[in-house]
Amino acid sequence: RGKTDPVLQLEKINVTFDGFRALTDLSLSIGVGELRCVIGPNGAGKTTLMDVITGKTQPDNGRIFYDQTIDLRTLSPVEIARAGIGRKFQKPTVFEALTVLENLEIAQKNDKSVWHSLRAKLSGEQRDRINEVLHLLRLTDSSQRAAGLLSHGQKQFLEIGMLLVQEPHLLLLDEPAAGLTDAETEYIAELFRTLAGKHSLMVVEHDMGFVESIADHVTVLHQGQVLAEGSLRDVQANEQVIDVYLGR
Ligand code: ADP
Repeated sequence: RGKTDPVLQLEKINVTFDGFRALTDLSLSIGVGELRCVIGPNGAGKTTLMDVITGKTQPDNGRIFYDQTIDLRTLSPVEIARAGIGRKFQKPTVFEALTVLENLEIAQKNDKSVWHSLRAKLSGEQRDRINEVLHLLRLTDSSQRAAGLLSHGQKQFLEIGMLLVQEPHLLLLDEPAAGLTDAETEYIAELFRTLAGKHSLMVVEHDMGFVESIADHVTVLHQGQVLAEGSLRDVQANEQVIDVYLGR
Protein backbone atom coordinates (compact mmCIF):
# COMPACT_ATOMS: atom_id res chain seq x y z
CA ARG A 1 0.00 0.00 0.00
CA GLY A 2 1.53 3.28 -1.13
CA LYS A 3 1.30 6.60 0.63
CA THR A 4 -0.82 8.08 -2.12
CA ASP A 5 -3.51 5.39 -1.82
CA PRO A 6 -6.77 6.71 -0.45
CA VAL A 7 -7.70 5.86 3.13
CA LEU A 8 -11.18 7.20 2.46
CA GLN A 9 -13.16 7.61 -0.75
CA LEU A 10 -16.64 9.05 -0.97
CA GLU A 11 -18.36 8.64 -4.32
CA LYS A 12 -21.45 10.66 -5.24
CA ILE A 13 -22.94 10.81 -1.78
CA ASN A 14 -26.43 12.27 -1.44
CA VAL A 15 -28.11 13.07 1.86
CA THR A 16 -31.57 14.60 2.12
CA PHE A 17 -33.52 15.60 5.21
CA ASP A 18 -37.24 15.81 4.42
CA GLY A 19 -36.47 16.74 0.85
CA PHE A 20 -33.75 19.23 1.82
CA ARG A 21 -30.46 18.34 0.15
CA ALA A 22 -27.72 18.50 2.77
CA LEU A 23 -25.13 16.76 0.52
CA THR A 24 -25.41 16.56 -3.27
CA ASP A 25 -23.27 14.15 -5.35
CA LEU A 26 -20.40 14.68 -2.97
CA SER A 27 -17.17 12.96 -3.95
CA LEU A 28 -14.06 13.25 -1.83
CA SER A 29 -10.85 11.28 -1.45
CA ILE A 30 -8.35 11.45 1.41
CA GLY A 31 -4.92 9.87 1.04
CA VAL A 32 -3.19 7.68 3.61
CA GLY A 33 -1.29 9.94 6.02
CA GLU A 34 -2.86 13.09 4.66
CA LEU A 35 -3.91 16.08 6.77
CA ARG A 36 -7.01 17.48 5.08
CA CYS A 37 -8.91 20.57 6.18
CA VAL A 38 -12.57 20.93 5.32
CA ILE A 39 -13.87 24.47 5.41
CA GLY A 40 -17.10 26.14 4.37
CA PRO A 41 -19.78 28.50 5.68
CA ASN A 42 -22.42 27.45 8.21
CA GLY A 43 -24.86 24.95 6.76
CA ALA A 44 -22.40 23.87 4.05
CA GLY A 45 -22.70 20.21 5.09
CA LYS A 46 -19.49 19.71 7.09
CA THR A 47 -21.17 18.03 10.06
CA THR A 48 -23.34 15.91 7.78
CA LEU A 49 -20.20 14.77 5.98
CA MET A 50 -18.67 13.57 9.27
CA ASP A 51 -21.98 11.96 10.26
CA VAL A 52 -22.04 10.01 7.00
CA ILE A 53 -18.46 8.77 7.42
CA THR A 54 -19.08 7.63 11.01
CA GLY A 55 -22.37 5.92 10.19
CA LYS A 56 -24.49 8.32 12.22
CA THR A 57 -26.38 9.34 9.07
CA GLN A 58 -27.13 6.94 6.20
CA PRO A 59 -26.75 8.51 2.76
CA ASP A 60 -29.58 8.05 0.26
CA ASN A 61 -27.08 6.65 -2.22
CA GLY A 62 -23.42 6.75 -3.17
CA ARG A 63 -20.48 4.75 -1.87
CA ILE A 64 -17.92 5.20 0.90
CA PHE A 65 -14.77 3.11 0.90
CA TYR A 66 -12.36 2.92 3.79
CA ASP A 67 -8.92 1.45 3.23
CA GLN A 68 -10.00 0.87 -0.37
CA THR A 69 -12.04 -2.27 0.26
CA ILE A 70 -14.28 -1.74 3.28
CA ASP A 71 -17.70 -0.38 2.36
CA LEU A 72 -18.56 1.79 5.37
CA ARG A 73 -22.24 1.78 4.47
CA THR A 74 -22.39 -1.85 5.57
CA LEU A 75 -21.00 -1.14 9.04
CA SER A 76 -22.65 0.19 12.21
CA PRO A 77 -21.21 3.28 13.97
CA VAL A 78 -19.57 1.02 16.57
CA GLU A 79 -18.01 -1.18 13.88
CA ILE A 80 -16.76 1.93 12.05
CA ALA A 81 -15.08 3.16 15.24
CA ARG A 82 -13.56 -0.29 15.83
CA ALA A 83 -12.27 -0.28 12.25
CA GLY A 84 -10.04 2.66 13.22
CA ILE A 85 -12.03 5.81 12.51
CA GLY A 86 -11.99 8.13 15.52
CA ARG A 87 -14.12 11.24 15.79
CA LYS A 88 -13.85 14.20 18.07
CA PHE A 89 -16.84 16.46 18.44
CA GLN A 90 -16.45 20.17 19.05
CA LYS A 91 -17.32 20.13 22.75
CA PRO A 92 -15.00 18.03 24.88
CA THR A 93 -16.68 15.07 26.55
CA VAL A 94 -14.53 13.55 29.26
CA PHE A 95 -15.40 11.79 32.50
CA GLU A 96 -15.04 14.80 34.79
CA ALA A 97 -14.97 12.90 38.10
CA LEU A 98 -12.25 10.51 36.94
CA THR A 99 -8.56 11.29 36.64
CA VAL A 100 -6.84 12.05 33.35
CA LEU A 101 -5.16 8.65 33.50
CA GLU A 102 -8.46 6.85 34.17
CA ASN A 103 -10.05 8.62 31.20
CA LEU A 104 -7.28 7.36 28.94
CA GLU A 105 -7.53 3.83 30.35
CA ILE A 106 -11.27 3.71 29.68
CA ALA A 107 -10.81 5.05 26.17
CA GLN A 108 -8.10 2.54 25.46
CA LYS A 109 -10.20 -0.40 26.58
CA ASN A 110 -13.01 1.11 24.53
CA ASP A 111 -15.51 -0.31 26.96
CA LYS A 112 -18.84 1.26 27.81
CA SER A 113 -18.72 -0.19 31.31
CA VAL A 114 -16.54 2.25 33.24
CA TRP A 115 -16.46 0.01 36.29
CA HIS A 116 -15.27 -2.94 34.26
CA SER A 117 -12.68 -0.86 32.43
CA LEU A 118 -11.09 0.44 35.60
CA ARG A 119 -10.79 -3.03 37.07
CA ALA A 120 -9.27 -4.72 34.04
CA LYS A 121 -5.47 -4.87 34.01
CA LEU A 122 -3.53 -3.02 31.34
CA SER A 123 -0.74 -4.72 29.46
CA GLY A 124 2.75 -3.22 29.51
CA GLU A 125 2.26 -2.19 25.92
CA GLN A 126 -0.98 -0.40 26.75
CA ARG A 127 0.73 1.42 29.64
CA ASP A 128 3.54 2.53 27.35
CA ARG A 129 1.06 3.87 24.82
CA ILE A 130 -0.81 5.80 27.53
CA ASN A 131 2.44 7.34 28.80
CA GLU A 132 3.40 8.25 25.26
CA VAL A 133 0.03 9.93 24.69
CA LEU A 134 0.19 11.75 28.06
CA HIS A 135 3.55 13.12 26.99
CA LEU A 136 2.35 14.01 23.49
CA LEU A 137 -0.64 15.94 24.87
CA ARG A 138 1.45 17.57 27.63
CA LEU A 139 -0.71 15.97 30.33
CA THR A 140 1.92 13.90 32.16
CA ASP A 141 1.97 16.24 35.17
CA SER A 142 -1.85 16.24 35.32
CA SER A 143 -2.33 12.48 35.01
CA GLN A 144 -3.67 12.11 38.57
CA ARG A 145 -5.92 15.18 38.42
CA ALA A 146 -9.67 14.92 38.04
CA ALA A 147 -10.50 15.72 34.41
CA GLY A 148 -13.18 18.16 35.60
CA LEU A 149 -10.44 20.37 37.05
CA LEU A 150 -8.62 20.78 33.73
CA SER A 151 -8.77 23.95 31.65
CA HIS A 152 -10.92 23.90 28.50
CA GLY A 153 -7.81 23.47 26.37
CA GLN A 154 -6.52 20.60 28.48
CA LYS A 155 -9.89 18.86 28.20
CA GLN A 156 -9.67 19.18 24.43
CA PHE A 157 -6.16 17.72 24.56
CA LEU A 158 -7.35 14.89 26.80
CA GLU A 159 -10.13 14.04 24.40
CA ILE A 160 -7.67 13.92 21.51
CA GLY A 161 -5.55 11.66 23.72
CA MET A 162 -8.57 9.42 24.30
CA LEU A 163 -8.74 8.94 20.54
CA LEU A 164 -5.01 8.43 20.13
CA VAL A 165 -4.74 5.61 22.69
CA GLN A 166 -7.08 3.67 20.42
CA GLU A 167 -4.51 3.98 17.61
CA PRO A 168 -6.97 5.19 14.95
CA HIS A 169 -6.05 5.16 11.26
CA LEU A 170 -8.31 8.09 10.42
CA LEU A 171 -9.09 10.95 12.78
CA LEU A 172 -12.06 13.23 12.19
CA LEU A 173 -11.85 16.43 14.21
CA ASP A 174 -14.52 19.09 14.47
CA GLU A 175 -13.05 22.55 15.15
CA PRO A 176 -10.26 21.29 17.41
CA ALA A 177 -8.85 24.81 17.89
CA ALA A 178 -12.13 26.35 19.10
CA GLY A 179 -11.67 28.03 22.47
CA LEU A 180 -7.95 27.30 22.71
CA THR A 181 -5.38 29.91 23.72
CA ASP A 182 -2.88 31.03 21.07
CA ALA A 183 -0.16 28.87 22.61
CA GLU A 184 -2.45 25.83 22.72
CA THR A 185 -3.52 26.41 19.10
CA GLU A 186 0.11 26.55 18.04
CA TYR A 187 0.83 23.34 19.88
CA ILE A 188 -2.19 21.53 18.39
CA ALA A 189 -1.07 22.59 14.91
CA GLU A 190 2.39 21.17 15.60
CA LEU A 191 0.84 17.98 17.00
CA PHE A 192 -1.37 17.46 13.93
CA ARG A 193 1.59 17.88 11.62
CA THR A 194 3.40 15.24 13.69
CA LEU A 195 0.42 12.87 13.63
CA ALA A 196 -0.05 13.15 9.87
CA GLY A 197 1.85 10.43 8.08
CA LYS A 198 1.23 7.87 10.79
CA HIS A 199 -2.48 8.75 10.90
CA SER A 200 -4.76 10.36 8.33
CA LEU A 201 -6.62 13.43 9.56
CA MET A 202 -9.70 15.29 8.43
CA VAL A 203 -10.13 18.57 10.27
CA VAL A 204 -13.22 20.76 10.02
CA GLU A 205 -12.14 24.25 10.94
CA HIS A 206 -13.32 27.87 10.81
CA ASP A 207 -10.14 29.55 12.01
CA MET A 208 -8.30 30.31 8.76
CA GLY A 209 -5.09 31.09 10.60
CA PHE A 210 -5.17 27.59 12.02
CA VAL A 211 -5.98 26.08 8.63
CA GLU A 212 -3.03 27.94 7.17
CA SER A 213 -0.72 26.56 9.84
CA ILE A 214 -1.64 22.89 9.32
CA ALA A 215 -3.09 21.93 5.98
CA ASP A 216 -1.44 21.19 2.73
CA HIS A 217 -4.78 20.35 1.17
CA VAL A 218 -8.13 22.05 1.67
CA THR A 219 -11.65 21.12 0.57
CA VAL A 220 -14.22 23.92 0.46
CA LEU A 221 -17.84 22.82 0.91
CA HIS A 222 -20.77 24.99 -0.05
CA GLN A 223 -24.45 24.01 -0.13
CA GLY A 224 -23.60 20.34 0.20
CA GLN A 225 -21.13 20.27 -2.68
CA VAL A 226 -17.39 20.55 -3.12
CA LEU A 227 -16.85 24.10 -4.36
CA ALA A 228 -13.07 23.95 -4.57
CA GLU A 229 -10.16 21.76 -3.59
CA GLY A 230 -6.41 22.29 -3.52
CA SER A 231 -3.79 24.20 -1.58
CA LEU A 232 -5.10 26.92 0.74
CA ARG A 233 -3.50 29.50 -1.51
CA ASP A 234 -5.29 28.12 -4.57
CA VAL A 235 -8.71 27.87 -2.97
CA GLN A 236 -8.38 31.36 -1.49
CA ALA A 237 -7.71 32.70 -4.97
CA ASN A 238 -10.71 30.82 -6.42
CA GLU A 239 -13.37 33.29 -7.64
CA GLN A 240 -16.30 31.13 -6.50
CA VAL A 241 -14.79 30.73 -3.03
CA ILE A 242 -14.29 34.49 -2.76
CA ASP A 243 -17.91 35.03 -3.80
CA VAL A 244 -19.19 32.63 -1.13
CA TYR A 245 -17.04 34.04 1.66
CA LEU A 246 -17.48 37.71 0.78
CA GLY A 247 -21.14 37.23 -0.21
CA ARG A 248 -20.75 39.04 -3.50
P1 ADP B 1 -22.25 22.64 8.68
O1 ADP B 1 -21.70 21.63 9.62
O2 ADP B 1 -21.35 22.90 7.50
O3 ADP B 1 -22.64 23.92 9.35
P2 ADP B 1 -24.51 20.81 8.50
O4 ADP B 1 -23.97 19.55 7.95
O5 ADP B 1 -24.72 20.88 9.97
O6 ADP B 1 -23.59 22.04 8.02
O7 ADP B 1 -25.89 21.13 7.80
C1 ADP B 1 -26.10 21.14 6.40
C2 ADP B 1 -27.54 21.48 6.14
O8 ADP B 1 -28.37 20.37 6.48
C3 ADP B 1 -28.03 22.66 6.95
O9 ADP B 1 -28.88 23.46 6.14
C4 ADP B 1 -28.80 22.02 8.09
O10 ADP B 1 -29.84 22.86 8.51
C5 ADP B 1 -29.36 20.75 7.43
N1 ADP B 1 -29.48 19.65 8.40
C6 ADP B 1 -28.47 19.04 9.06
N2 ADP B 1 -28.94 18.04 9.84
C7 ADP B 1 -30.29 18.02 9.66
C8 ADP B 1 -31.36 17.22 10.19
N3 ADP B 1 -31.13 16.22 11.06
N4 ADP B 1 -32.61 17.50 9.77
C9 ADP B 1 -32.87 18.49 8.90
N5 ADP B 1 -31.90 19.28 8.37
C10 ADP B 1 -30.63 19.05 8.74
